[in-house]
Amino acid sequence: MLAIAIVGGGHAGLQLGIGLLQHGYAVTLATDRTPEEVRTGRILSSQGMQHSALQHERDLGLGFWDDVAPRHDFIAFGLRGEDGGRAVSWQARVARPGNSVCQRLKIPRWTDELVRQGGVLEIGAVDIAALERLARRHDLVVVATGKGELGRLFPRDAARSPHARPMRALALTYVAGMAPARPERGVNFNAAPKIGEYFVMPAITTTGACEIMVFEGLPGGPMDCWDDVTTPAQHLARSKAILERFFPWEAARCRHIELTDENATMTGRFPPTVREPVATLPSGRAVLGIADVVMLNDPLTGRGSNNASKYAAHYLDRICARGTAPFDRVWMRETFETYWAARGRMITEWANRMLEPPTPVMQAIVHAAEHDARIAAHFVGCFDDPTGVHPWLFDRAAAEAMFGPLPDVAH
Ligand SMILES: Cc1cc2nc3c(=O)[nH]c(=O)nc-3n(C[C@H](O)[C@H](O)[C@H](O)COP(=O)(O)OP(=O)(O)OC[C@H]3O[C@@H](n4cnc5c(N)ncnc54)[C@H](O)[C@@H]3O)c2cc1C
Repeated sequence: MLAIAIVGGGHAGLQLGIGLLQHGYAVTLATDRTPEEVRTGRILSSQGMQHSALQHERDLGLGFWDDVAPRHDFIAFGLRGEDGGRAVSWQARVARPGNSVCQRLKIPRWTDELVRQGGVLEIGAVDIAALERLARRHDLVVVATGKGELGRLFPRDAARSPHARPMRALALTYVAGMAPARPERGVNFNAAPKIGEYFVMPAITTTGACEIMVFEGLPGGPMDCWDDVTTPAQHLARSKAILERFFPWEAARCRHIELTDENATMTGRFPPTVREPVATLPSGRAVLGIADVVMLNDPLTGRGSNNASKYAAHYLDRICARGTAPFDRVWMRETFETYWAARGRMITEWANRMLEPPTPVMQAIVHAAEHDARIAAHFVGCFDDPTGVHPWLFDRAAAEAMFGPLPDVAH
């Protein structure tokens, strides 16, 4: 039986590990926190996911929250105008619903599942020496440590990483008591040009149903305003203040919100970074990176959890197809590059370009979607299948070939 070690028990590591167990591999998963520590710890993400990424989880029997997590039936878009009101507003139903299951629920439950299905769980932070030990004892080591320090073993790919600095100041707030925007449930995405973005979605967390508020402020701008916040109560107050000032149509929903728990807040920033997929240990052995280790995108387009799922599914297929042949460097690189060509490049390019000021064609599309349901539907569909973004979102001729003449708009 081939033995595979996975370092990092987050989304990608656990999904891949459980998939490998179901295909007859011996799996050791080494991670730095116990399931209980994750469950009772700080929130980690807004983890909004769309249908096809969720389907990979369901294929492994991991969709434990399908009946209880609020469905995301639509995605809505609002654009702040120069007068401070909502200049553009549209929404489209998604073909099949998405959801958001708090990682404080998903990760502990999946960890228990990995052990139940025969995986060996090792708790403790893995360093280079520990990685060497794992590499000696296993046929393949996959590093799934997300934004953790260990990922720096994998050299940054400058050609695929256009932004060297963080492009947004991030904040998350999990709340209860938010008034619904409409009878049906979904994701509301709002943009304030030159200031930042705010999106909000229903989810399930450790205390039950909630709404997740995600703030993306341009560095140095008025939404980059979290450094002096020291308590959860201040964080909630700042969240509301941002909405009152920049997204008043969303503030109206938030008169009675409360934090879901004391760990329901988070702030941070990081540069979006693509790394080489293969790292070399001091012994000369090679290890393979996955998901955020290799493709870390800003959450603005909500790609990371979706990517972790699709990425894990791709690696599972590649490992199973390899049979008993060795997992050498050539195979490792090809395993990443086939994912990059099929999805990774498009996901990354979309995420990175949305961090830049919108181009005239993007502005035209966003305005046109208000009056053309086909454009709104196509845009919304791209969240499930980001390959649909190319080339129309970046190329006026391609967009007009699909949907006819676009308006000229400039902010
Ligand atoms: C503010 C914010 C909002 C987001 N919103 C969304 C969204 O709406 N939709 C979406 O699709 N994505 C979203 N994401 C991204 C998504 O959460 C991540 O991309 C996804 O969790 C990455 O999965 P992963 O398995 O690569 O890493 P992770 O899930 O981060 O897992 C890494 C694991 O490795 C462990 N670890 C780290 N270092 C070590 C070590 N040395 N030894 C052992 N274990 C270690 C960690 O504890 C962790 O358990 C968001 C991210 C942020 C920051």
